[in-house]
Amino acid sequence: MKVILLRFGELYLKGHNRNVFENTLIDNIKKMLQGEEFKFEKTFGRYVISDYKEDRENEIVKKLKKVFGLYSLSKAREVEADVNKIKECVKGIDCKNTSFKVFVKRADKNFPIPSMEFAKELGELVLETNEGSFVDLYNPQKEIHVDIRFNGKAYIFSETIKCLGGLPLGSSGKGLLLLSGGIDSPVAGFLMAKRGMTLEALHFHSYPYTSEQAKEKVVTLAKELSEYTGEIKLHVISFTRVQEEIHKRCKDEFMITIMRRIMMRVAERLCEKHDLGAVITGESLGQVASQTMQSMTVTGDVVKYKPIFRPCIAMDKEEIMKIAKEIETYQTSILPYEDCCTVFLPKNPVIKPTIKQAEREEEYLNVEALVEQALESEEIIVCNK
Ligand code: ATP
Ligand code: MG
Repeated sequence: MKVILLRFGELYLKGHNRNVFENTLIDNIKKMLQGEEFKFEKTFGRYVISDYKEDRENEIVKKLKKVFGLYSLSKAREVEADVNKIKECVKGIDCKNTSFKVFVKRADKNFPIPSMEFAKELGELVLETNEGSFVDLYNPQKEIHVDIRFNGKAYIFSETIKCLGGLPLGSSGKGLLLLSGGIDSPVAGFLMAKRGMTLEALHFHSYPYTSEQAKEKVVTLAKELSEYTGEIKLHVISFTRVQEEIHKRCKDEFMITIMRRIMMRVAERLCEKHDLGAVITGESLGQVASQTMQSMTVTGDVVKYKPIFRPCIAMDKEEIMKIAKEIETYQTSILPYEDCCTVFLPKNPVIKPTIKQAEREEEYLNVEALVEQALESEEIIVCNK
């Protein structure tokens, strides 16, 4: 019978929380495979997916590769833990003209042949049945694994497919992702979700300075992310008034600094309103004027009760782009619609603002009223794959 073996990694580290983590992971696997026919079984240290339609196998593997907390998987054959049945199965693996190595793991010591001995026997069988095959113990082109388990079953596989790793979604609370239309913020969301955070998202638009398409683009990005994170509630907030006011009343070079401070205030208030535990941004140190250490000190200063997570902080643009391509948000991100950050963009933004300077500029504004107004414009769009 064809099956898929799943391995999970870090859960072992979690001591008494392990059960909670495991149950979350299992739930997530089942959710991800919703709509597929399959059976799920848990054996010690392993999960086994079986009884699925064979023509769905690749699709199922693709879905499983989007589940955080899974470490690797293998398409395998399950047979009775019987010497002849295992041999029959190993015979079916094509090793012609390749080097190979057989690995036998005998969890069940009732199996009559010790692991090393059985591996040798199987190796000889492979040599006999595959022209041009040869054993290479150190760097084999093909690995043949035979896992003999306690359940009276043996699993035979020759390929291990790497999965995402990380922690099961939902095991690290909920965060609010500041989602622009750019390349970095979807990656930031993905990385936090990989550490087990469920996401909601916040987007500021500046209609009519930004277009309807710019907003649609962000909805598309949230949908693309939701392939990994499940449903994402996108909070859309109008920033037009805020930007007009700052533009009118504050020094040009502080436009971005003040704008970002107000974004952060709105974000924290939304966190409180919707019971979210952290603010997430796609900032990367030194990438632009608003992402210097000083700028982040000044924008972070207004957030009092929540941590700000910036998972891209130490990454080069190249590295961020690589992930964006892997998670397939890149093509949407590079669509050419403007972001509200580009509206009223000053020629010479301050690179090293201080909190004092920012506070002085804000004296020209009624910050609280602007935050309130922005919050009132909240529209919620539920984004699903
Ligand atoms: P990105 O590629 O994510 O747009 P960026 O390099 O363009 O990032 P900025 O425009 O300075 O950088 O934005 C920094 C971060 O601020 C973004 O990663 C995002 O988290 C947040 N952000 C910027 N613009 C918006 C917006 N319109 N709505 C929500 N969050 C935003
Ligand atoms: Mg941007």
